[in-house]
Amino acid sequence: MTEIKRWIPNSWGDVVGNPDLVEHFQDILHASLDGEFQGLNTLVTGESRSGKTSIVKLFIRCLYCDKLDRETLTPCKFECDNCRADVNLFGLEGMHVRLQDRNIHYLPIDCTSVSEKDLKDRLVDLRDYGGFRIVFLDEAHRLVRRNMDEQLLKPSEERANTMWIVTSAVTGELEKMFKRRFVRLQTERASVDDFSLWLTDRCHEFEIQIDEPSTIIRLAERSNQSPGDALQVLSRAAIKRPKQLTRKLVESHHFEIND
Ligand SMILES: [Zn+2]
Repeated sequence: MTEIKRWIPNSWGDVVGNPDLVEHFQDILHASLDGEFQGLNTLVTGESRSGKTSIVKLFIRCLYCDKLDRETLTPCKFECDNCRADVNLFGLEGMHVRLQDRNIHYLPIDCTSVSEKDLKDRLVDLRDYGGFRIVFLDEAHRLVRRNMDEQLLKPSEERANTMWIVTSAVTGELEKMFKRRFVRLQTERASVDDFSLWLTDRCHEFEIQIDEPSTIIRLAERSNQSPGDALQVLSRAAIKRPKQLTRKLVESHHFEIND
């Protein structure tokens, strides 16, 4: 059930925790709707599976949705061309999307899987590109570990006409690199109560039954209110017949140590 593990919220109400991140990206969307798109460079740090990537992906979808609800900032139900094309799925070539009557190229780079050669090619291409770009570097700490981060220094310093969005599990070296001209935000865990409500909504969405109410609270606790970790358990519950989240499953699940 990779669908559940890769779940992305369809609205801001489906985001759990992370109030500062939500406010930041909503502010950019509101300004954008007023015709003032501000490409604020943003560095989001926080533990793995704490919801960084899914929030950025929701933001990108909202930014490019042609039928975005101006009040609630909710994207359409995959009715417009951009939502249907699913900007988030595009790989290394990125995608040209119209935004406020101009083309803004969106280039997501998954730093876990990008090869050194691909990254080099993208950065050369970036240097020569004339238009405006949004570059999303997901899990950028992986580049540090692979000694590939040095390549980013010049482009991130020199290039105008680019909005950089960078997520990372650790700061350290990256913090030095991105400290100038970057808004820095951190993920923030939801309370056990709020996280339990969110889990109940997800079980409803995925049509998973719950054996007893305390199971949800226990999952909130054991997952340390980490959406990515909890979704792994829900993906296991979803392959049971009938689909059911049980106390036994929650207690026996081996949660990954943070990497
Ligand atoms: Zn749309």
